[in-house]
Amino acid sequence: MSVRESRGTDFIREIIDEHNRTGRFGGRVHTRFPPEPNGYLHIGHAKSICLNFGIAEEYGGLCNLRFDDTNPTKEEVEYVESIREDIRWLGFDWGDREYYASDYFEQLYQWAIQLIKAGKAYVCDLSAEEIRQYRGTLTEPGRESPYRNRSVEENLDLFQRMRAGEFPEGSRTLRAKIDMASPNLNMRDPVMYRIIYATHHRTGDKWCIYPTYDWAHGQCDSIEGITHSICTLEFENHRPLYDWFIEQLGIHHPQQIEFARLNLTYTVMSKRKLLELVRQGYVSGWDDPRMPTICGLRRRGYTPEAIRSFARRIGVAKTDSVVDIALLEHCIREDLNKRAPRAMVVMRPLKVLIDNYPQGKVEMLDAVNNPEDPSMGVRQVPFCREIYIEQDDFREVPPKKYYRLAPGQEVRLRWAYLITCTDVVKDPATGQVVEVHCTYDPATRGGDTPDGRKVRGTIHWVSAPHAIKAEARLYEHLFTKPDPDDVPEGLDFKANINPNSLQRVRCYAEPSLAGARPGERYQFERVGYFCVDPDSTPELLVFNRTVKLVDTWAKIEKTLSQQQ
Ligand code: ATP
Ligand code: MG
Repeated sequence: MSVRESRGTDFIREIIDEHNRTGRFGGRVHTRFPPEPNGYLHIGHAKSICLNFGIAEEYGGLCNLRFDDTNPTKEEVEYVESIREDIRWLGFDWGDREYYASDYFEQLYQWAIQLIKAGKAYVCDLSAEEIRQYRGTLTEPGRESPYRNRSVEENLDLFQRMRAGEFPEGSRTLRAKIDMASPNLNMRDPVMYRIIYATHHRTGDKWCIYPTYDWAHGQCDSIEGITHSICTLEFENHRPLYDWFIEQLGIHHPQQIEFARLNLTYTVMSKRKLLELVRQGYVSGWDDPRMPTICGLRRRGYTPEAIRSFARRIGVAKTDSVVDIALLEHCIREDLNKRAPRAMVVMRPLKVLIDNYPQGKVEMLDAVNNPEDPSMGVRQVPFCREIYIEQDDFREVPPKKYYRLAPGQEVRLRWAYLITCTDVVKDPATGQVVEVHCTYDPATRGGDTPDGRKVRGTIHWVSAPHAIKAEARLYEHLFTKPDPDDVPEGLDFKANINPNSLQRVRCYAEPSLAGARPGERYQFERVGYFCVDPDSTPELLVFNRTVKLVDTWAKIEKTLSQQQ
């Protein structure tokens, strides 16, 4: 089966198939991913990246990376580098086709001259505020600018002098001369150029007039011979304008196709809001593991495979919707379940003494690295008289159906022995159990019960003298509400920030984790998936909880299928 066949289809692929049938682009498929280098990429961009690069791959075509760097005031080199890194990490390659809208500034300028000469563009002296006022509304037509009927000669002269830096910032614009009464506001003489005295990250001080996104975007696609300009829905009513520019210029005409952007529950995706979270210190940076950025997800322990699988599952649609973040979590769990080695780590330790185990004896016991994948082999974990278990795995007064450790009750220690609780030691001041005494059954090495007796509970543990101390960072959603923008009047999304989205705990890990390196991922048995954080030092390992084990998405799917 070819890549194409394995993917299934959707309305975008159907359009491309149709073009291939009719030969509109001679069978060529050439897409692009056009980020503005004014922030870090997020999971929404990942959807667009997977779509654009994925389609090119499936159809044996090409996908360009183009930085839409038309706004010199907001862009930074830092962002360009992070964008490259994130796309590569996701597993896509643009070869030598890395382009910048700024590479085309001269061509765009020449095309503007062409439009002026054709009487289709004019220099306007209205201020930005006046242009807004003249534009009209959805129900009222706009009013024509008093400068609309300048002669071609005057327009050419003024536009050249705008470029030469003769006029103050904001004093003049170049506008397309289309139709101030058009029902589509984008067609009401949109601005093509504005005067901005700012140093551009690539062109330096060469230019003091900058093309608007609307004037640049379609022409950039045309220059690169893009066949399918895939973009998000908000550009649907810009399409007539892009088509108009292309037709006036008589140049290669890509097909623009709009799809719904990704929205996720408990997540904000706007770059402005993400920047606010970073600048105002609500998170530690763009790569804070609670951020929906690609670098945040990477640090959190997400894999490119999981993100690509997520993008495939959500598909593309023509109407906006909100995807349950549980689906993203399901995708990473599914991937890590197959590939993450298991380890035993105790988050909230309770000391257990095994009274009948010989003092000073240490046994090395075999532990399977991944029951899903025997090829990942076996490691050895030390066992001795003194171990830690989770506080939660012991109850002095067990509720019904509590199969873990309790006075007189037997439990299996994963990969080790069966133990029975014989006694507890309490803190005289608080009455809290601080130590549990047990006996073990030497005939149950490895957790087997040779006599066939049933022991339902299995718990994880670590050897107390061998355990290494580590820090676990336990994350919850960054927002308390599925829709972070759901706030009372007068407040903004920050009112919904979850004050408990990060909890740091000191935990005890089995000694095999001693050499773990940043980026490595594990399943801590019964606890969750974790990834080693770059903050780790030789003295202290730091683990980020990637995702809990409980799969809420699987539950949702089950309920849905039962309802059907
Ligand atoms: P903002 O609106 O916050 O300024 P943007 O979405 O315009 O950001 P760009 O850098 O221009 O950010 O986006 C690059 C590409 O990624 C665009 O083609 C855009 O359509 C796509 N994209 C951005 N956000 C999403 C999203 N949430 N879902 C799908 N595609 C997205
Ligand atoms: Mg944009």
